[in-house]
Amino acid sequence: MNYRISQQAAALSPSLTLAIDAKAKQMKADGLDVVGFGAGEPDFDTPQHIKEAAVKALADGFTKYTPSSGILELRQAIADKFKRDNGLTYKPSQIIVSCGGKHSCFNTVMATCQAGDEVIIPSPYWLSYPEMVKLAGAKPVIVPTTDATEFKITPDQLRAAITPRTRLFVLNSPSNPTGSLYAPDELKALGDICVERDVLILSDEIYEKLVYDGAQHVSVASFSPAHYAHTIVTHGFAKAYSMTGWRLGFMAAPEPVAKAVDAIQSHSTSNPTSFAQKGAVAALNGSQDHLNSWLAEYSKRRGYAHQRLSSMPGITCVNSKGAFYLFPNISRLGLKSTEFCARLLEQEKVAAVPGIAFGADDYVRISYATSMVNIQKGLDRMERFARSLFK
Ligand SMILES: *Cc1c(COP(=O)(O)O)cnc(C)c1O
Repeated sequence: MNYRISQQAAALSPSLTLAIDAKAKQMKADGLDVVGFGAGEPDFDTPQHIKEAAVKALADGFTKYTPSSGILELRQAIADKFKRDNGLTYKPSQIIVSCGGKHSCFNTVMATCQAGDEVIIPSPYWLSYPEMVKLAGAKPVIVPTTDATEFKITPDQLRAAITPRTRLFVLNSPSNPTGSLYAPDELKALGDICVERDVLILSDEIYEKLVYDGAQHVSVASFSPAHYAHTIVTHGFAKAYSMTGWRLGFMAAPEPVAKAVDAIQSHSTSNPTSFAQKGAVAALNGSQDHLNSWLAEYSKRRGYAHQRLSSMPGITCVNSKGAFYLFPNISRLGLKSTEFCARLLEQEKVAAVPGIAFGADDYVRISYATSMVNIQKGLDRMERFARSLFK
């Protein structure tokens, strides 16, 4: 048998982060004291009332197929959330619940992109976006940004990247991996260009609730009916409710796109897990109080980590405005990100994610979704490492 792998699957990049992650896990298993800054998920537990709603659903026998787009009760709760938080009006038929925010992004790309299309992705980017675009047969067009603009794409950059083939512009604010957040006027300027040039926007708003210093997240869909008509919002429960393992996300889109996504989902995963959906209803309709203490804790860690990183020899670091990442620039230390992270792990037993994974080789990603004790210990070690490289 010739196990020929399809062109689109063979074109996928293997995960660069995996090698370091596997090594860190092995070192831990060997009893070594590894500090992990690699986490892409909250270190808090799912709030109790959400778990209880799912447990009750299980006990009540809510264990069968649901509509492939999700139960109406949840889609209505999501529509209510968009109204409440973003001033956006969606009918439940415009909302599709999927198996994670990642799945919602994937479905969106599959429903809107095909061979010959171009998708504009600012870098540093969340590493799955370009791979999804390639799987759809379309071409990722990477527009690089740096810490000099707080990792934000400018209107001129966006305008210059648009061609007659441009189908989609991927926006992720607050951002993974940089923690940057677009101000409303910056977001509107980008949205205006997409409206004018008739480009769809995939707005990944999964970190909406994790913003600091009184900053406000605004959805690009909310500026005008034209912005709304050009935007597909993807979202999920993973980050604001610490439900990463539940595999639940959602998207809100103009009717034709939602319909296409529903069709794709009905022939691939079918519905997301029935009893998990009941937990998600409790998440949206129940108390949001947990967020206050989570945000206070993240904010404290972020302040400390940013101050420590900024004072390390050869390292500069813009402060993040959202999510739970910092993205320090390590280029003055003379190593590219993969080698930097490999040696940091080897010498100091600190695991960080090389920026190259996100298309930015001068940086590393530090997640502060870990305890203050870990952050202190890990940054002490990282400082010693930076000192050893600094000339
Ligand atoms: C975590 C994350 C998601 C969604 O994760 P799921 O676990 O699939 O819900 C989507 N986009 C970004 C940028 C993320 O960091």
